[in-house]
Amino acid sequence: MDTVIGAGSDGADAPVQFERLAVLGCGLIGGSFALAARRAKLARHVVGYSKSPSTTRLAMQRGVIDEEADSALRAVNGADLVLLAVPVSSTADLLKQLRHGLEPHALVMDVGSTKGDVVLAVKAQLGARQSQFVPCHPIAGKEKSGVLHAEAGLFDGKRVVITPLAANSDSFVDIATQAWESIGGVVSVMTPAEHDAAFAAVSHLPHLLAFAYVQALTRQPKGGGYLQLAGPGFRDFTRIAASDAVMWRDVFQANGAEVLQQLQLFKQALAAFEAQLRQGNWTQLEALIRDASGSRQAWSAPSSADDTD
Ligand code: NAP
Repeated sequence: MDTVIGAGSDGADAPVQFERLAVLGCGLIGGSFALAARRAKLARHVVGYSKSPSTTRLAMQRGVIDEEADSALRAVNGADLVLLAVPVSSTADLLKQLRHGLEPHALVMDVGSTKGDVVLAVKAQLGARQSQFVPCHPIAGKEKSGVLHAEAGLFDGKRVVITPLAANSDSFVDIATQAWESIGGVVSVMTPAEHDAAFAAVSHLPHLLAFAYVQALTRQPKGGGYLQLAGPGFRDFTRIAASDAVMWRDVFQANGAEVLQQLQLFKQALAAFEAQLRQGNWTQLEALIRDASGSRQAWSAPSSADDTD
């Protein structure tokens, strides 16, 4: 492995860092990472594997990968960079499938939206080889899944959270950081617990609320008609409700305790709004709105705020 990292995400003058990248899960995030790695010349050759051979074939046809593998074990054979980009509930099973084929020098990363469960799976499945696995979460995505929506520029200027394991050597964490930076990411480091608490608040709860709100609307007798009248406010508030069901079921399953804690805080806030509304305390209601509106106006959106995760 050449550890010299390229200067820019466009690949100009960037030396190849990895000989062989194995992407496990050729969907939106895995496909985007493969395209970004090719653009940045981060990897010389990209091999892909997905659960359904048709998905891997599609990635090949779209020029996202150079080679199809028919098993996770074969995909990681000879790879010096391995990316797991599957639903988080599949992490343990996939690690079990590939662990005997992993090269001793390979860096393994994931992209899962939750980290506590991924870390448990890594410790259980990789044992001493966990030192090779650097858990990652790019805060970039879309409400659409699948390789057809993959984009080389998906990670440009986007935050990537790395939650290193105690067993990781500094050099593996550094290489992981530089790999994400070379494809346009901006890396933050935190613990898995800090990650899961923070993203329950700013990502997981908002998705739960968006799903529930859309269901409340569409299940009422005249909901379909109301939907026809919806405008930009509805569009902005509910964009994320179109997200993938399996991915989000996994997130709520993996991070349920933190999401429930955030839900309690939300219910308290909602109850305060409801009480003012019921009692006709318009001045109090205005004060609550003013407080929330001020906080939202003071927040400056990172470029990643247009994305799903
Ligand atoms: P996606 O587009 O549905 O892609 C998932 C891919 O994983 C599919 O190609 C699927 O292949 C494959 N797969 C599923 N189970 C597998 C298994 N057991 N072995 C091998 N491949 C398997 O989903 P995604 O949006 O890229 O999400 C992937 C990961 O990224 C998730 O962990 C998610 O939490 C994380 N993430 C997503 C976003 C986002 O906005 N979407 C953002 C940040 C992080 P088949 O077609 O064969 O099922």
